Amino acid sequence: MHPRVAREKRIIEIMITNFCLDVHKRFEICSDCQELLNYTEKRLLTCPFIENKPVCVNCEIHCYNKNQQDKIKLVMRTVGSKMIYTNPLDTL
Ligand SMILES: [Zn+2]
Repeated sequence: MHPRVAREKRIIEIMITNFCLDVHKRFEICSDCQELLNYTEKRLLTCPFIENKPVCVNCEIHCYNKNQQDKIKLVMRTVGSKMIYTNPLDTL
C-alpha cells in the first residue's frame, strides 16, 4: 500500500470513528459508519491519483457516489476542524 493511501486511510478511520462517537453516541462504530468506512477504504485503494492525489473529498473525479460523498463531507465538517489540533492534517 502506498504511504499516502495508508495515511489517508488511517485519518479517515479516526475521523469516522470520532464522528460516530460524537454524533451517534456509540461505544463502537455503528453499522452505517462502518459501511462508510469500508466504502472510503475501497475508494482509496482504487484511486488513480495515488502518487499525487488530493484528499479524497477535494478530489476532482469524485469517485464517491453521491450518498457516501454527502456522508463523508458531514464527517469532515463535524470532526475535521477539531482534528486539526490533534492530527497532522496539513501533511495530507
Ligand atoms: Zn455511526
